[in-house]
Amino acid sequence: MCTDSAVDEDAVTYIVTTTLAPAFAPSANVSHIKESATLAVASRARALKAAGREILDLGAGEPDFDTPEFIRRAAQKAIDSGATRYTATEGILPLRQAIAAQANADPAEVVVSTGSKQSLFNACFALFGPGDEVLVPTPSWTSYYEMVSLARAKAVPVHGHVTRGLKVTADELARAATSRTKGLMLNSPCNPTGSAYDTNELSEILDLAASKGWWVISDEIYQRIAYEYPAPSALSLMPDGSRDRLVLVNGVAKSFAMTGWRIGWAIAQRPVAAAMNALQSHTTSNPATPSQYAALAALTDTAAADAAIAHMVATFRERRDAAMTILDSAGVTYVRPDGAFYLYVRVGDGDAFATRLLDAHGVAVVPGSAFLTPEWVRLSYAAPTATVIEGVKRLTLLLKSPA
Ligand code: PLP
Repeated sequence: MCTDSAVDEDAVTYIVTTTLAPAFAPSANVSHIKESATLAVASRARALKAAGREILDLGAGEPDFDTPEFIRRAAQKAIDSGATRYTATEGILPLRQAIAAQANADPAEVVVSTGSKQSLFNACFALFGPGDEVLVPTPSWTSYYEMVSLARAKAVPVHGHVTRGLKVTADELARAATSRTKGLMLNSPCNPTGSAYDTNELSEILDLAASKGWWVISDEIYQRIAYEYPAPSALSLMPDGSRDRLVLVNGVAKSFAMTGWRIGWAIAQRPVAAAMNALQSHTTSNPATPSQYAALAALTDTAAADAAIAHMVATFRERRDAAMTILDSAGVTYVRPDGAFYLYVRVGDGDAFATRLLDAHGVAVVPGSAFLTPEWVRLSYAAPTATVIEGVKRLTLLLKSPA
């Protein structure tokens, strides 16, 4: 078997092209998993770079900063003092205590995993199953649809309106629900749009979920990267008595520039945490031990962490504002981002546009078909300011040039 694999920088998708022996038929577990819609542009960008072409890469889904030094040092110290063995599956107690303290939870309600991606997968697998429907506000991160379907439940996309930054309302969710609706995936600030729900919008959605008895999985991985207002957490807005239906997911990847360390976590009522932990005990066991100590430093040295985050957010804000100025002056339709580091731009045919932008103008972006909204493209401003400005200028020129 010959395997050629690639991970797009977004960690949105894992792409494997395989020359298979003829007898192989994928099992029912994976046969429905769709290949990434980003494949064409991502692999073309790599090929162009390999051929010596200069590519402005606005496809990345990770901060372009190094992990702050105080975190790297903590990990080095941990390794030197022997933190190189297995830990409890759910993670070391001091880290779970630090996570729990931020959420006013109990450490027994916390499961630390290999990235928030695994936390989300654990949650979907523990909560949903055959016959269940799960509402997914759309556009949203592509892995939600696949995780729900790996749990053999049905993901039901609910499209948000452009006048509200592509966010959904409680009414829209209520209309998409059926008697089989079991849960709801929330992500605010959102990948790919950067939209964040304000307190009222989020409260209305959580009230609806509580009244229907739905599970809410709230992915708050971009929560600390917010520009307009602090992005509210579902934790503080869940109506009284319904908190046990919430699974809160977060991690260090985006806020602390720690994508490669692979630490995320879920906070849930004890039986749900126990089920996720049991699942994890048979798949990956504990997340990497040195990474747990790095995350512990990130969460407990709050002065250093706040300073590092403030610097990154200020830089993202500058780039966001520069990009919006260019888009505004050309009258381009896009979602004004409240958080994260993405701009979502309406271009017509996103796949064709992304291919042309890359081939003819050397700018890599992610087509919106990856997020079930094919009229759009996502660009990331987690790239040097000059690259962002030049890339957005070329995108705008192509968009405004006669076909
Ligand atoms: N959730 C969202 C919305 C993301 O965009 C990403 C990464 O792109 C993740 C989760 C995964 O993060 P992690 O690196 O912690 O697995």
